[in-house]
Amino acid sequence: MELSGQVALVTGASRGLGRAIALALAEAGADVALNYVRNAAAAEEVAAAIREKGRRCLLLQADVGDGQAVGAMFERLMAEWGRLDILVNNAGVTRDTLLLRMSEEDWDTVLTTNLKSLFNCTKAAARIMLKQRGGRIVNISSIVGLTGNAGQANYAAAKAGIIGFTKSVAKELAPRGITVNAVAPGFIVSEMTERLPEEVKRAYLERIPLGRFGQPDDVARVVLFLVSPGASYLTGQTILVDGGLAM
Ligand code: NAP
Repeated sequence: MELSGQVALVTGASRGLGRAIALALAEAGADVALNYVRNAAAAEEVAAAIREKGRRCLLLQADVGDGQAVGAMFERLMAEWGRLDILVNNAGVTRDTLLLRMSEEDWDTVLTTNLKSLFNCTKAAARIMLKQRGGRIVNISSIVGLTGNAGQANYAAAKAGIIGFTKSVAKELAPRGITVNAVAPGFIVSEMTERLPEEVKRAYLERIPLGRFGQPDDVARVVLFLVSPGASYLTGQTILVDGGLAM
């Protein structure tokens, strides 16, 4: 298997895209540390599925927006497994509302969880990967970071920020054999999109050239490619996984 012997950490891996990414990495042979913030039962279920595949799994509860909690998470990972080859920055939240109704808390929560988390986790991971002289980092952005979206000024700003962060860190870490790429999903079926009103979902579906919503596995397969040996000459890129929605 392509990733056997490698250690991966996926943030926000208890549900949705993170869950699918964690399972795909385990399927390819990696041991996977699962981060989550609240939903311990769901994270345990993903852990059980990973162990069933014969891989090791470590559950790491931490708010990725909290620098101290992230520091403790990486200390625990290193104490238990002693290495890190793959980081997937996936955890994210939405607080959708029009700008004039958006509270400072709506702004701060989304920017902290979706963007500051990358500063926290990538810095900690890069320290380890620099010593190992290699590694793969994949950041989950969104097409909204490229197109913008009414009602998502906070989320779009965070997701656009991820793209700039990805390119900057890719340039910093490339000489040391570490690649940093982003994936920008379109409309993917998950709890995040489940709560959107039916008419909004219908309007999205009409705009998707491939004629269906994405599934978490559609994203997981692309992440798997980005961390595989086949993607060794690819860095600083943002790959859209959106059925053509943003074209
Ligand atoms: P989801 O179903 O709502 O799952 C969110 C995950 O993030 C959960 O595992 C949650 O953990 C975790 N999380 C939330 N806040 C956290 C925090 N402060 N610290 C650590 N973990 C935290 O969302 P999703 O749809 O899978 O989205 C995953 C990523 O893809 C996000 O970055 C999202 O912005 C991005 N994305 C999604 C879509 C889409 O259409 N679904 C499109 C573009 C981009 P708990 O279970 O413990 O709460």
